[in-house]
Amino acid sequence: MAKPNGNSVRLAAGRGHHALPGPSVVPDRVLRAMHRAAPNIYEGELLEVSDTVYADLNTIAGNSGHALIYIGNGHATWEAALVNTLSKGDTILSLQTGRFGAGWAQTAKSLGINVEVIDFGTDQSVQVERVEAALRGDTEHSIKAVITVQTETSSSVSNNIPSIRSAMTACSHPALLMVDSIASFGCEPFKMDAWGVDILLTGCQKGLMTPPGLGIVFIGDGVWPLYEEANLNTPYWDWKSRVYPEYFAARFSGTPPTHHLFGLREALDMLLEEGMENVWQRHRVQATAVWAALDCWANSGCLAFNVPNAEDRSWVVTCVKTESGLASRLRAWCESETGLTLGIGLNLEPNGAKTTDDLFRIGHMGHLDPHALLGMLACIETGLHALGIKNSEGGVDAAMKYIATATRT
Ligand SMILES: *Cc1c(COP(=O)(O)O)cnc(C)c1O
Repeated sequence: MAKPNGNSVRLAAGRGHHALPGPSVVPDRVLRAMHRAAPNIYEGELLEVSDTVYADLNTIAGNSGHALIYIGNGHATWEAALVNTLSKGDTILSLQTGRFGAGWAQTAKSLGINVEVIDFGTDQSVQVERVEAALRGDTEHSIKAVITVQTETSSSVSNNIPSIRSAMTACSHPALLMVDSIASFGCEPFKMDAWGVDILLTGCQKGLMTPPGLGIVFIGDGVWPLYEEANLNTPYWDWKSRVYPEYFAARFSGTPPTHHLFGLREALDMLLEEGMENVWQRHRVQATAVWAALDCWANSGCLAFNVPNAEDRSWVVTCVKTESGLASRLRAWCESETGLTLGIGLNLEPNGAKTTDDLFRIGHMGHLDPHALLGMLACIETGLHALGIKNSEGGVDAAMKYIATATRT
């Protein structure tokens, strides 16, 4: 490929780094745990390992109810949550701050569920006053569930889940609270029981550092009355046969995801060895370092936070707006010249359609050290220099200084 600057030297010859907001970097320990012969699925190690996987997932979720594992991705869990609790014609309330929340609502609509939407735009968190007002207006209690997303990966907005439950409690509304934490599970704090969340969804390929393939659903004890009434359910998705299996494989409605279970076991070991409190605080520090850098790059006037208010920002992904076309050029430069792959922008209505050219996302979730984080920021800043963006200095320095302060004992 001809080089834009006419130089012939290529520097990107190492391992490369994918700073995507999922799938995230898979640790070597997880890869090694999956590199093994096919196990017996009827008895022995796989069954014992699986028991511990379910238990540890529940620990991380803060859930005293059940955990279910589907061979599937995040979209599979959206559907699982809806069909086990709702019937055609039921009404739910969808709190949206970006494209994934909207996608879940669209899944509900295609199942024949009536979806009321509160759209908070794509640059700020859910405002609970509006949620409370909507629920107060529902005097008949026809809204069966409130659905929302913890980290909205498209916009990088983070929603305050306990405050949404408080709004529901304040007007004594009986709806279930269902939360998609597919991007943030195992990265941002989650306390399902304490926060009053009835259904929590995640996948294994983001904070859980395992190759894509498992959709994980947590259910609290409050779901069963709606489950009994729901008429959208089908055998494959059904919760009861998975929660109370007659034999091991019935947990998965068929052949278990053998190697994924071993990989996930190793990933859970890594998280629990580190300690969840540390994992969460590490993500907060990683995110703040990225923001420190972006604060400086923004002085150029060519880049900006998609989410201006730091309180509303996710700890696992940062969405960056750029002047026209810069995002595409920067992603291409970083990938070809430094081996760093950045996340593409996803369409954020109503900001226009060409967002892949004018938005990019930095994934900072999962298996990440300061050397990778600072390397990633340095590559971006180098790219800004290479592309002639003026007044974009000092980002890496600000991130280094922040990390030095954050780690000082
Ligand atoms: C990644 C993601 C999804 C979709 O997950 P898939 O595994 O791609 O189906 C849904 N919601 C959020 C918040 C996500 O980050």
